[in-house]
Amino acid sequence: MLDTPRSVRLHIAIFGRRNAGKSSLINAITNQDLAVVSPVPGTTTDPVFKSMEIAPIGPVTLIDTAGIDDEGVLGELRVKKSMKVLAKTDLLLLTVASDSVPDEFDSKIVNEARNRCIPVIGIISKQDIGTGTEAETWFNSMDVPFCRVNSLTREGIDILKKLIVEYSPEDYLPETIMGDLLKKDETVILVCPVDAGAPKSRLILPQVQVMRDALDAGVCVIVVREHELATALQNLKTPPAMVVTDSQAFAFVSKIVPPEVPLTSFSILYARYKGNLRDFLNGVKAIDTLQPGDKVLIAEACTHYPSHEDIGRVKIPKWLEGKVGGKLEFSWVVGGDFPEDLTDYKLIVHCGACMINRAEVLDRLSRCREAGTPIVNYGIIIGYINGILNRVVKPVDKSK
Ligand code: SF4
Repeated sequence: MLDTPRSVRLHIAIFGRRNAGKSSLINAITNQDLAVVSPVPGTTTDPVFKSMEIAPIGPVTLIDTAGIDDEGVLGELRVKKSMKVLAKTDLLLLTVASDSVPDEFDSKIVNEARNRCIPVIGIISKQDIGTGTEAETWFNSMDVPFCRVNSLTREGIDILKKLIVEYSPEDYLPETIMGDLLKKDETVILVCPVDAGAPKSRLILPQVQVMRDALDAGVCVIVVREHELATALQNLKTPPAMVVTDSQAFAFVSKIVPPEVPLTSFSILYARYKGNLRDFLNGVKAIDTLQPGDKVLIAEACTHYPSHEDIGRVKIPKWLEGKVGGKLEFSWVVGGDFPEDLTDYKLIVHCGACMINRAEVLDRLSRCREAGTPIVNYGIIIGYINGILNRVVKPVDKSK
């Protein structure tokens, strides 16, 4: 259970003012002493992530955040970090202590969540120190479903879990990566290059997830390196229903796979699974309008060590500058970093985003739309550069 990647877990964020009982609540939900609890306001600084299972949802990540009313220079930084958590939040728990009166900080969180279509559940905590009457009236006036919880005795936790199940968005993750594109007993070939960029002795997360997804759909899976692909195709009595390759091998693989066999890549499957294929396809048009000197942002959602032939640091910049016929101004962000102001960039190139959750990818796409900044992902841009974009998108694009 603990091995389920965080990126496919439902993300439940706990917000509230300082000393509202957020850390005690996370301990009561998990039934463990995971978060540091202290009567001193502002004990939680950076957001804290905890994994657990909630039946029948499955694996979830609970996020404990710093108080949204924190003060001072450091306090403001902590609030900023807490607010960044909203980008990856699927469900928000707003905690109000039973002896306090909800104020503008609580209203701000509810409004921010509603602007982002994040469902909110209210929690009246610390039942031993107040009546909670004012919090109850306020939650009712804000039309926020709520429950009362005593984190010390765990009273109310079962009711809270029922509310979590009831209000969790069903579409926080599509049911399948590719199971709807193939039929049971069909064969898919997964092409997984083992080059200098591949981690030692293991496959990478998108390859493993696609493999498991195909197995779940009853599809026969063959895994090869690109150099064994021709042999694998020859050995099959009938052609495979699909070939999925690492996008970086598109040029090599597309020459081997017969044109009538559907071909796509892991990151194009992820463009649909984690984000919105249409947004990424719309972004392609910007490549033709790029001019020397334009700013291009490359965003990778993890902090892997870049190799000498790294796709984001070396290959894509080289391809784009070759296409534009001059130098472009590149910058890079990794992990959870994504610039606040996107308006300066003429293009954003995003990785497959296997390490962040769907809510965060959708948040980035929506911010790009608002800023009018085109965004593509690795699979889409490499397909375009190799002149095979239509071919490699067709098997995945159900709108066609
Ligand atoms: S760079 Fe992106 S796609 Fe590649 S492993 Fe990291 S998060 Fe996943």
